[in-house]
Amino acid sequence: MKLFSGKNRPLHLGPYPLERLRRAELPPDDLPIRPFEWPQGGKAGGLGALARHYLAIYDAHRDGARAPQKAPVPDDAGVRTNDIKAGGYFLDASVMGICAMSAAARRGHDARATGGHDNAIVVLVEHGRRPERGNLAHGWTEGAAGECAGLRAGQIAVVLAGYIRWLGFSARAHSVMNTEVDLNVLAVRAGVLAVDERGLFHPFIRGGYALGAVTTDYPVVADRPIAPRRGMARLICETVPHWLGLGGCFPAMERARIARRASHLGAHGMETIKRVDRPTTLVLDDEIPRVSKRAAFFERALQGDLGAKAQRERSRFAMKHPFSQSMIPLIRAMVPHQHGRVAPQKAHGTSDPAANARALKSLAYFLGADLAGICEAKTFTWFSHKEDGTPIEPYHKFALVMLIDQGFDTMDGASGDDWVSGQQSMRGYMRGAEIAGVMAAHIRALGYGAASQTNALSDVLQLPLTLLSGLGELSRIGELVLNPFIGPRSKSVVLTTDMPLRIDRPIDFGLQDMCNTCNKCARECPCDAISCGGKVMFNGYEMWKPDVERCARYRLTNPHGSACGRCMKMCPYNHEGLFWHHWALKAAIRWPWTRKHIAIWDDRLGNGIRNPVKRWWLDLEIVDGVCVAPRGVNERDLDRGRVLDPHKQKLAIYPAGMMPPPDHLDPFPVDRKAALAMAGRLERPEDAEKRRAARGAPPAHDTPPAPAGTRSKRGRPVASPYAPKS
Ligand code: SF4
Ligand code: SF4
Repeated sequence: MKLFSGKNRPLHLGPYPLERLRRAELPPDDLPIRPFEWPQGGKAGGLGALARHYLAIYDAHRDGARAPQKAPVPDDAGVRTNDIKAGGYFLDASVMGICAMSAAARRGHDARATGGHDNAIVVLVEHGRRPERGNLAHGWTEGAAGECAGLRAGQIAVVLAGYIRWLGFSARAHSVMNTEVDLNVLAVRAGVLAVDERGLFHPFIRGGYALGAVTTDYPVVADRPIAPRRGMARLICETVPHWLGLGGCFPAMERARIARRASHLGAHGMETIKRVDRPTTLVLDDEIPRVSKRAAFFERALQGDLGAKAQRERSRFAMKHPFSQSMIPLIRAMVPHQHGRVAPQKAHGTSDPAANARALKSLAYFLGADLAGICEAKTFTWFSHKEDGTPIEPYHKFALVMLIDQGFDTMDGASGDDWVSGQQSMRGYMRGAEIAGVMAAHIRALGYGAASQTNALSDVLQLPLTLLSGLGELSRIGELVLNPFIGPRSKSVVLTTDMPLRIDRPIDFGLQDMCNTCNKCARECPCDAISCGGKVMFNGYEMWKPDVERCARYRLTNPHGSACGRCMKMCPYNHEGLFWHHWALKAAIRWPWTRKHIAIWDDRLGNGIRNPVKRWWLDLEIVDGVCVAPRGVNERDLDRGRVLDPHKQKLAIYPAGMMPPPDHLDPFPVDRKAALAMAGRLERPEDAEKRRAARGAPPAHDTPPAPAGTRSKRGRPVASPYAPKS
């Protein structure tokens, strides 16, 4: 909970009030700074070793060829610098700083050993919160905090280096495991760490940290070193503003509140939300058809069902900005590690489902997840067939679902469908793949089957698992589970396992009533894909069914942005977490009559209008391997005058019976006319309940087609853009 708004705080300033620190002249190059050493001490084969394994995966991409042509970046070095720093904070750096290289930083090597680079961008990531004693994860994380923070710092450095190379400049990432520079020297020169007679420290960070860096010839502006204050001057100028969160920085008192909570509860008060036995929307477990991966609309686009343009754009739509493109090699490289060998012996002390559930959640938060919940991975939550038509048999009993917050700040600056939208998605996917990948490997080492299920490769449907694990309710946006604390602003990742776990129950925070009175996401959707009418039954689920084909087409072919997430930005539950936002949530839960007023006032107050202070990214597009200025930008705010009429809205709905056979590898064009007619034939939830009471059979249109058994002309499906390169 924050007292002061960060709306006027640009992202390049970061979460700590670094602008309040006193700065000094550059130190002499012979200043005695402890040489950088890789933090040793993790258990062999433990979590630290897994972090090293993943860092090695990232480090394979720390250098590479630059784009053959320079991007049209701004002439103003300050704007370029802010873009790079904000990019680091967007990727969850704790502190960013920039300096010129020096002989000491090069460890005595000549300039060629560091690529002839004259600038260094330094990344500091603080340690995750170690689970408390008595929690199984306390032992798991022993000695691993440095390695796990080093993994994150390395990831950020590799992505930033890749981004700069896409801009047409030379850049190399340096991690705690692979570096030709002295990270400690660079950190002091860049004002990321202070130094005094006790050694290196950061004035605002009390726990441990890890470093990473990028050396580059990209012209950016250097910071100055920190000149530590002492006594009353420090208290007044630094400590008190930091504690309260003055100037919109993240308040230290909020960090202290989170640190006092049991680690398995995370930062958000999910334990205060009412739990219920069944989700607040009807879920007919025994009628839900298992669907194939071939039926998902992005997969359909890839295989050519939506035409040539959508098929072409499928491989680049969210990745056509150089920042998101720089995350792709990492996401792709993690795919082969999602499954693996299980240790033959079960680890001692891992048979208690409640203790295991607590430990896995604590570990998820330690590694950087924002919310975690557990449910049974029921049969209907598994896809029926893989992309190539191979049947999938459910192989794990439980699912740990983790949400990655896409971050309020960037969303505040964006229209939702401009050039940062794809980066927001890719960041969530990359972060989720890392956390679930490391955790799954850890569980396998404990002797239990486990797999990470990511956006790049998943055998499960994330939506029903997120609903069943109590992380939110289904919202008007449609196929989106909305969390009471971070709203719709999340990406999910799932870890399936057969480790015994205690499951969570679904939640009820009044969202169905709220979405009944609020139509803002439907009003603001740029392609009218969100239902402004009532709920229907779709494949056994009660929901506001969106026109997924229209949404997918818009996201794929958006000419003035990368992808789209405008509905997420518009929702009143997408807020910055000030104290009065929490009061509003409590009021909406306790007094249903307030919901309508909250929705109305959210709109009147202008929430959803772009905040220019938060606009940190450069508008760029990769075309034919080089960055160019895009042909346009979606500049949208609120469309308060738009009137919605559910009777005039036309939505195309494709239930299971209209999906392609699971093994149909050639194009299977959508029949939009039939899908528009289908919308009028769907059951309403109350009709479904009456039918079931009368023992009626499920609608025929919810039965998916059987495998066709026909040979494809192509022989195999078009490969996903995330498929590892052979
Ligand atoms: Fe509409 Fe964009 Fe949301 Fe799709 S992602 S429903 S196009 S606002
Ligand atoms: Fe529900 Fe309104 Fe949010 Fe849409 S914008 S999901 S209607 S609360």
